[in-house]
Amino acid sequence: MSRKFIQAFIILFIASLLLIGCTYSDIIVLDSPKAVDGVLDLRDWDWKENGIVHLNGQWEFYWQELFTPEDFKKDFPTEGKELVVLPRAWNKLLINEEELTGNGFATYRLIVHHPDNEILGIKIPRIFTSYNLWANGELIASAGKVSVDNKQMVPQYLPQVKYIRPEMDVVELVIQVANYRHRSGGILESIQMGLASEITEVRIRNLTLELFLFGSLFIIGFYHLVLFLFRTKDKTTLYFGIYSIIIGIRTLLIGEIYFIYLFPNFNWEVAHKIQTLAYYLSVPLVLLFLRAAFPHDVSRKANTFIQIIASSFGVLVLLAPVRIFTPFNPFYQVFSLGVFVYVFYVVAVTCYKKREGAYLIGIGLTILILTAVNDIIFLSTLLADTDNHFLRSIITRGNLSSRGLLVFVFTQSLVVAKKFSKSFTNVELLSEQLQQVNVTLEDKVRERTHALETSKEELKKAYEAVSRSEKSLQSLTQNISHDLRTPLSAIKGYVNAILDGIVKEPQQQNKYLKRVIEKVNHLNHMVQELLDLSQLQSRQLKLEFTEIPVKILLENLTEKYKLDMANQKVQFKVHYPPNWQSNTSELMTLSVIVDMEKLERVFTNLLTNALKHTSNEGIIQLSFNFTANKKNLLIKISDTGTGIPQEDLPHIFDRFYMVSKARQTNSSGLGLTIVKEIVEYHGGEVWVQSEVGKGSDFFFILPVHS
Ligand code: ADP
Repeated sequence: MSRKFIQAFIILFIASLLLIGCTYSDIIVLDSPKAVDGVLDLRDWDWKENGIVHLNGQWEFYWQELFTPEDFKKDFPTEGKELVVLPRAWNKLLINEEELTGNGFATYRLIVHHPDNEILGIKIPRIFTSYNLWANGELIASAGKVSVDNKQMVPQYLPQVKYIRPEMDVVELVIQVANYRHRSGGILESIQMGLASEITEVRIRNLTLELFLFGSLFIIGFYHLVLFLFRTKDKTTLYFGIYSIIIGIRTLLIGEIYFIYLFPNFNWEVAHKIQTLAYYLSVPLVLLFLRAAFPHDVSRKANTFIQIIASSFGVLVLLAPVRIFTPFNPFYQVFSLGVFVYVFYVVAVTCYKKREGAYLIGIGLTILILTAVNDIIFLSTLLADTDNHFLRSIITRGNLSSRGLLVFVFTQSLVVAKKFSKSFTNVELLSEQLQQVNVTLEDKVRERTHALETSKEELKKAYEAVSRSEKSLQSLTQNISHDLRTPLSAIKGYVNAILDGIVKEPQQQNKYLKRVIEKVNHLNHMVQELLDLSQLQSRQLKLEFTEIPVKILLENLTEKYKLDMANQKVQFKVHYPPNWQSNTSELMTLSVIVDMEKLERVFTNLLTNALKHTSNEGIIQLSFNFTANKKNLLIKISDTGTGIPQEDLPHIFDRFYMVSKARQTNSSGLGLTIVKEIVEYHGGEVWVQSEVGKGSDFFFILPVHS
């Protein structure tokens, strides 16, 4: 909000500088003396203090006469003498009860009395449309060719500054004017008189300002056209560019009309056409610009209507001579005012809807339009054809719109700058986002590559596992057939021996049959183990889990195995966790979820293995402990037996794996596999440490719940 306020303040400040700064000299005009009865008395006028005088008031006027100062010396032309208040066109003046049109010729005369014989300057505006000017009998200025004949007369707009010789304290000004080309004829703007230095200064100041305006507008216009070429999507820059350039050109054709000094013989008609066209085109261009800036707020119908009317007037200016099209000018001026009202309406709507840049464009356009209205009134018949003092005191110059446009240019460049900086910010933001996306993309690619690599590795492992299991399936079948065939062929041998009568004695036969039973039992055991294992591995065998406090579990187990091991020849020791006796309550709160029957099988298998491989003097120990934070119950079964060779350690939990190549009796190579399966089914792990000749330590853990 405050930023907008500051912007508005700066714009208004610059606008006032441009507008007021250029018009201050005109304010003095208001109370400068007026000519009465063809005489302007400036004897009390202090040139130095009071400045320049506009030679306004009653001038002598001789209609359809071209007098020279010589003629007035003879005291001749008193007859046709009229008085006319300048500045104004002679249109609509009543001479001999006849209303004048713009066409015709006349002589103006004014006597100026002034205080002393200072060097005076006279600033002559454009006069419609040709003149000769004498000061004290000397022809000092002329423009075009004055003639009574329509065809001989040559129009020219030539504002100029001339100097009057300081001979006397009176100046007689005689001006012949002829016009057949413009709607208005005569002296439409004030002739100014003052000290030569001051008059020159005004001229130079005006010229400087106009050239500055022309240069600024031209360059800004060109810049916007180039902007448009780079970004044809945004049409505001196109319309704004054209607008600035044509108003820039117009600046050279009005006011001091610097153009005529660049091209002294330039055709008056063509110059007039260019100047009028510049004005005519500027009106629809404002609307086109608005439409491009706020497409939703300018009605299509209104736009089309305005474009059609403006183009028709434009065509008229292009095709018809000045004499024909200038009478239509008032209509176009009324039309322009209508368009400006519509523009004000659109500006109000866009500000109300808070469109982007609406405030800035609104301020710029308002100032531009106010200055344009000033120019329109200045050039209108309202001022030209009357001696309306009130309006003349407000509207003193006809080229304010160029200055108004400069303000508009300023606000528009703010809008463009804002747009650009916004785009830049967007681009920066986007590229930042893009960079982020890039970074995350890289991370993602890395992640995915990693995942791909691991899955590749997993695939490799899976492949290895599959090929291993295929191999193990092969060996399984081989082992099963081997392990089944050995006892079966033994049984067959024993039975055949009895049947064939090789063993005849009943005692011998009895011994053989006992061996048969042994083998059958072993077979039975093996088949049972195989069945259990396959069910465990395929998780078909459902375990019956119950939650048991660790303390109870330990008590039950030790009680059972102490009893079982008591009959063996080896020493059996049990080790409990530290503080087993004292901290009973804590142990009661910890529990394990186990299938007791299957867990006992684990213990039995491990203890049986230990017994099998330990000599009579050996020691078998059962130890219980907790892992860190009491997460798991750690069980260790160690023996001082044969130990297991290092190369066999990784395989002893595999199916049918036996350490010694020679198959042991009552061995299946399935016991440890079943142990592993049951422990893992409980969420635990099993592992072994062993050294040949020293013994083996089998460990397994069970998760503890609290
Ligand atoms: P088995 O039913 O033949 O004992 P296991 O799977 O229980 O099969 O054991 C696999 C192999 O591990 C056996 O061949 C045995 O030689 C070896 N083994 C198991 N426990 C011990 C131990 N406590 N000491 C030495 N060797 C052992």
